[in-house]
Amino acid sequence: MSDGGGAQESDAVGLLRALIREACVNDGRPDSGQEIRSVRVLQRFLAPAVAAGRIETQVLESAPGRASLIARVRGTDPSAPSLGLLGHLDVVPVDPEGWTRNPFGGDLIDGEIWGRGAVDMLYLTAAFAAVLRETALAPERPRGDLVLLAVADEEAGGEYGIHWLVREHPDAMRVSEALSESGGMRMGAHVAIEVAEKGSAGRRLVIRGKPGHASIPYGAASAAYRVGEVLQRLGEVAPAAQPSELWDAFVAARIGDPALAERLRDPVSIDAALPHLGGIAGYAHAVSRITLSPTVLRAGMTHNVIPAVGTIDLDIRTLPGTSDADVDQLLAAVLGPLIDEVEIQHLRGWAATASSAREPLFAAIERAVGAVAGAPVVPIMAAGGSDARVLRELGIPAYGFGLLGPDWTYERYREGVHGNDERIDVESVELSLAALRLIVAERVGGLVVE
Ligand SMILES: [Zn+2]
Repeated sequence: MSDGGGAQESDAVGLLRALIREACVNDGRPDSGQEIRSVRVLQRFLAPAVAAGRIETQVLESAPGRASLIARVRGTDPSAPSLGLLGHLDVVPVDPEGWTRNPFGGDLIDGEIWGRGAVDMLYLTAAFAAVLRETALAPERPRGDLVLLAVADEEAGGEYGIHWLVREHPDAMRVSEALSESGGMRMGAHVAIEVAEKGSAGRRLVIRGKPGHASIPYGAASAAYRVGEVLQRLGEVAPAAQPSELWDAFVAARIGDPALAERLRDPVSIDAALPHLGGIAGYAHAVSRITLSPTVLRAGMTHNVIPAVGTIDLDIRTLPGTSDADVDQLLAAVLGPLIDEVEIQHLRGWAATASSAREPLFAAIERAVGAVAGAPVVPIMAAGGSDARVLRELGIPAYGFGLLGPDWTYERYREGVHGNDERIDVESVELSLAALRLIVAERVGGLVVE
């Protein structure tokens, strides 16, 4: 343990360390997570404001121990915006072998807080709770509601968290706009704020052959070979890039070389230009098109029987506006002449979501980031998903927020999330909190920020 150089530890940093130590690890099993422990930590943190009658809290449990905390500071004007601060409490598992420190120690060493969830996303959940408490205890009541939505089960898809909450407790969850995770990294001179997330449209390709005994293969048509043919085709024919407004914004913010930027904006030359992007090439590839990855292959039951049927599961990630029919049409184009040999089944999925960057909340983020970091904001699309999409599906503008220090490139952020030795610097926590105060003051009031 260290005191980080003797500096006074802020409320948000202390809370972050406490949340890390609760180790609400979510491995996807219904009884994992046990977020009730971190809910208790938040209740203790908010207790002075609750005792003063300034915050209404609800603990909502979807299953034993799978608790979420909703804490609402009521505004004076029902027509004012109500700002939701959506933070999850669960974290993904660790491989302790890969860590140089206790992943659940919450150590503060040389200005960095160590532990699973430090970046994804307990630092923000802690900052959200800190700004909520400040607002509740401020002399003046806010105009609009400020609501902390500290939820369970984000890392496993939110069935015990956000999905259950919006289904069972829509009144508790009621907000008109929201901030959540996956923002604040630097893209060139800009700070990235997430406005959109790709969707998922899983498909299973079922491929049939003619079975036979493996000792006499003559006359059989093994589904295994046909799976191989389809796989080869999938490897050779990939969906084309579809540059969008968000893509152009990304290129303008991140690519300094004008010639390279020009090639990236052109759907014909984009793929040849990707290798010049270094560590961000994978992200750039993912957000400029629908991607398609074979993941699970199945054929055959027994060593000595030629399989009659094989399947290929495809992880397909869509863009805002992509329909189910579009995905099937794209698959038909990719498979070409092989389409007649394949039956396409739909697996679980969800649509891509996007919030407009022309909403007042986005403008408030731009002003706050400009004031605190002196940097412009670039709206970006995330390749993966988060709970924010559930709010977007309800028509609520929701942005992936954060304001990380100047050394936090997108690549560094990606490495920090779910990786070994996950840690965040105090500076990033304080920058995020400073910007958050300005956003809250502008959107719902109450706080006076000098
Ligand atoms: Zn997260």
